[in-house]
Amino acid sequence: MNSNKKISIKGLTLDELEEFFLSIDEKKFRAQQVFNWVNNHLVFNIDEMLNLSKELRVKLNESVELQDLVLSKIQNSVSTQTKKYLFESNDGKKIESVIIPDEKRNTLCISTQVGCPLDCKFCATGLMGYKRNLTTAEIVDQYLLAAKDYGKENITNIVYMGMGEPLLNFKNTLNSLKIFTHELNKVLSKNRITLSTAGIPQKIKELADSGLKVKLALSLHSCFEEIRTRIMPINKKYSLQQNLDACRYYADKTDTLITFEYTMFKDLNDRKEDINVLVKLTNKIPSKINVIPFNDIKHMDPEGISAELSPTPMDRIYDFVEELRKRNVTVMLRDTQGDDIVAACGQLAVKDN
Ligand code: SF4
Repeated sequence: MNSNKKISIKGLTLDELEEFFLSIDEKKFRAQQVFNWVNNHLVFNIDEMLNLSKELRVKLNESVELQDLVLSKIQNSVSTQTKKYLFESNDGKKIESVIIPDEKRNTLCISTQVGCPLDCKFCATGLMGYKRNLTTAEIVDQYLLAAKDYGKENITNIVYMGMGEPLLNFKNTLNSLKIFTHELNKVLSKNRITLSTAGIPQKIKELADSGLKVKLALSLHSCFEEIRTRIMPINKKYSLQQNLDACRYYADKTDTLITFEYTMFKDLNDRKEDINVLVKLTNKIPSKINVIPFNDIKHMDPEGISAELSPTPMDRIYDFVEELRKRNVTVMLRDTQGDDIVAACGQLAVKDN
C-alpha cells in the first residue's frame, strides 16, 4: 500500500484491513476493532474509537481517510416516503442513492458509477454519459451515510440499482459486497442484498463463482433480441441468450431465484406475444418477474428512441400481470415511488457532473 497517500479504510475488506495494520507494524486484531467501529457503530472519527491507544489514533489520523463522500442534499417525496440522497465525492463528482420504503421493507438503492456507459434508452443515468467508476469506499459510504441518517436498523435491504452498471465496476462492487456480507458486519443477510445488471454474462458467472450468494436481478425488458437491442444497446454485444445462460448458471450455483426486471413500454413489450415468451422463460429458469411502470425521463430532455418511449397505461399493466399470474408466473408489480423528486426507477441523474 502507498504510504504517502491516505488509505480509504471504509473501502477495505476485513482481510485488506488486517494487511494494512500489519503494514504499519500494528497487531492484526486492530482491524476487527476498526471494522466494527466503522461498519457497526457508524463512527467515522478515529478519535472516537476509544479502544485504540492514543499513539495508534495519532498514527491512523495521519494515514487513513474516513470521508469519501459528503451528504450534500436530502429530498423527501411528498406523495410517498421515498428519500433521495445527493452525495459529493472528494473530486467533486455527484451521485445519488434512494431509500424506497414499502409495507415490509426499506430498501436502499445505491450507485456504482458516476453516470453509466450503457445508454439504455429509458434511463436518465444512461443519458448523462459515463464519468468514472466509484471506489469501493464510495459505494460502501452511500450505505454508511444513509444508515447514519435513516437508522441502520431501519434499512432492511440494499439493491445495486442506482447510477451505473455494477458489473462494469466489478472489483469494487465485489469488495463492497464482501464488506456488507462479512459475518462481523451486522448489516443484513445476503438474501437481502440484490445486484441488478443490464447483463454482462461473464461477470454474472464470476459473481456466481465468488460464493457471495447475493440475489441477482437482470434488466430484461424484452424477451426479443431485436427489441431489447433497440432499448438496451449493450444487447448487441452480449445477447439476451448469453445472459439467460449466465442467469441459469447463477441460479444453479447459488440456489437463488433470479429476478427479471420488466419495465412496461406501450406497444413495445406489453403485447400478448410478450406474455407467451415470458411464461416460457420463467419455466426454464427459477425466477420471478418484477413489472415496473415506466417513469418518464423528460427532465433529461430525451431525444430519438428515448423520446418515443411511453408508459403502458395502468389498466393494461394490471391485465398483463393478471395474465402472467394465471399462467403460474411469480410476478410482483412495483409501485412508482418517488417520481415527484425524480428518484423513481431509471430517473437518477445529476446533470452538472
Ligand atoms: S439502466 Fe442501468 S445499465 Fe442501463 S443506462 Fe441506466 S444505469 Fe446504466
